Amino acid sequence: MIVAEGVHKWYGKFHVLRGASLTVERGEVVVIMGPSGSGKSTFIRTFNALEDYQKGRIEIDGIELSHDLRNIETIRQEVGMVFQQFNLFPHLTVVQNITLAPKWVRKWPKAKAEDVAMQLLERVGILEQAHKYPGQLSGGQQQRVAIARALAMQPKIMLFDEPTSALDPEMVREVLDVMRSLAESGMTMVVVSHEVGFAREVADRIILMDGGTLIESGTPTEFFQNPREERTRQFLAQIL
Ligand code: ATP
Ligand code: MG
Repeated sequence: MIVAEGVHKWYGKFHVLRGASLTVERGEVVVIMGPSGSGKSTFIRTFNALEDYQKGRIEIDGIELSHDLRNIETIRQEVGMVFQQFNLFPHLTVVQNITLAPKWVRKWPKAKAEDVAMQLLERVGILEQAHKYPGQLSGGQQQRVAIARALAMQPKIMLFDEPTSALDPEMVREVLDVMRSLAESGMTMVVVSHEVGFAREVADRIILMDGGTLIESGTPTEFFQNPREERTRQFLAQIL
């Protein structure tokens, strides 16, 4: 579903991605961990063309991610993304947030878009919030709206960039539960997160990123109990 091979990126002179490679199969859930500044966000943002890159290749669901704009539009429809700061439109209601892209990009009629939005709100457990504005919701509710909004485009892949790290502790669980059920439904997911419990229970594979490359990849048991790399051990000593 995702093939990234030897991806390099520079911000000016700063070499942020240094030959990052990752293959994600259909239905796989991959959790990426790693120290701050190691390039995790930059790397996953290349998967939906939010960041460009200078060397290497990326293929998403068989589509080469080139600089061809048509490809970028297709990729953005196939790859949903959820950010740490929910990034909802504050002046639109929950339903309007969710139906915006399906109406404009997918050209769905209003009734169909709203129907799908309501189904998704039910799925993430906040149907009763449909007509509120983001500012009237808790952080956990806002993040669940953000997930519903991404799902409304019927993506084949979902990217999550530290989706719970801006939340108060008591709201982390409700967001992780939604992500867990999405994983169980067979969604292909790449999740940057340091939520150890979630990674242990939901990830098929956990990856450590450091210095712009992926330095270890293993099942949760391998990763937490028997890492091959010294850097992974050092990292785990800090977070466990
Ligand atoms: P964190 O855990 O703090 O989110 P990260 O692993 O996601 O970190 P990135 O956000 O990908 O790391 O950033 C990698 C490096 O690239 C950092 O050193 C950062 O300062 C730098 N960087 C990120 N965005 C830019 C930018 N737009 N211009 C210049 N440098 C940038
Ligand atoms: Mg980041």
